[in-house]
This record gives sequence, C-alpha cells and structure tokens, in this order.
Amino acid sequence: MARIGFYPGSFDPVTFGHLDIIARSARLVDRLVLGVGVHHGKQALIAAGQRIELLDQVTRPIAEHTGVKISIETFDGLAVDAARRAHASLIIRGLRDASDFDYEVQMGQMNGALAPDIETVFLAASPATRMIASSLVKQIARMGGDVTLFIPKEAVAVVKAALKAT
Ligand code: ADP
Repeated sequence: MARIGFYPGSFDPVTFGHLDIIARSARLVDRLVLGVGVHHGKQALIAAGQRIELLDQVTRPIAEHTGVKISIETFDGLAVDAARRAHASLIIRGLRDASDFDYEVQMGQMNGALAPDIETVFLAASPATRMIASSLVKQIARMGGDVTLFIPKEAVAVVKAALKAT
C-alpha cells in the first residue's frame, strides 16, 4: 500500500526551509500532498492559486529526482480532515526552534487525539535553512531587502508583485 504524507502550511511564500522539509519527507513517503491553508481571518500576501502554482514549479525537480508524486491542494478546515481526504497516514511538520517545538508538539498531540490513525512526523530543520520564516521574508522584502537567499527566484518575483499590489 502506498504511503501518503500530508504537509500542511501557509507557504506564503514557499521558502528554502519548506523545500528542505519537502525533499527530506520525499524519502519517507510514496506520495506527498502539500496542503495550502486558506483559513478565514488569516490574511495571506499571495493568493492561494499563485501559492499552488509556485509550489508546483519549485517542487517539480524534487518529484522528478525522487520519483515521489507531489500534489498540491488548498484546505480551509482541520489538517486532520484534509489529511484524511488525501488518504494520508502521516502529517509532516518542520521544527525550527523551541517555540515551534512547543506549538507543534501540542498541535500534533491534539491532532493525534482527533485522528489516532494519522501519525505526525516532525523533521528538525536543517542548519542551513533553520532561520528562514515566511513572515520574516515578507518583512525583509517589504523593506526592500534581498530575499534571494531565503526563497526560490520564482517566489521572489511573485512576492514583489504581490507587495506592489498591496
Ligand atoms: P504555518 O502558517 O502553518 O506556520 P508555514 O508555511 O510557515 O505555515 O509552516 C508550515 C510548516 O513548515 C510548519 O511545520 C513549520 O514549522 C515548517 N517550517 C516553516 N519554515 C521552516 C524552515 N525554515 N525549516 C523547517 N521547517 C519549516
């Protein structure tokens, strides 16, 4: 039976940190579903359709290299419900620091209570990308800083255009 992983996030924008988690989780699963969260009250910079398009572009080399099928969908409810719809047995999350740890483990445990059949797998961030956060990328870009160290070039153009439009 194929092992399917579900990796939820805002991906607003996708960063090299997310790509690191995606590439490493491709070693754990046969198929990976990326869930782009579009929750009410959580204002994103980049429209969901564009976030999906970007994720599709930048994850294609990972899919080709590993042979793992990567698909992308939006979800607006519980991650466990979206994971179930995707027939995933694993939810994947990344851990950067102690505050990620506290929040993610608590959420993982509550998700575990809601869906005992789905295991949350935490991957420790890689040293080279551990400091990257989408929120800081947006702040730096807003102030005219260079974000090419943190996000793929395809995402740089989208962030710039989205900031111009705001
Ligand atoms: P959310 O709004 O749910 O935090 P994000 O897209 O920022 O969405 O993050 C999705 C997941 O990716 C979370 O588990 C987060 O900890 C993880 N993540 C984000 N940035 C990094 C990074 N630089 N390295 C490893 N994991 C990361």
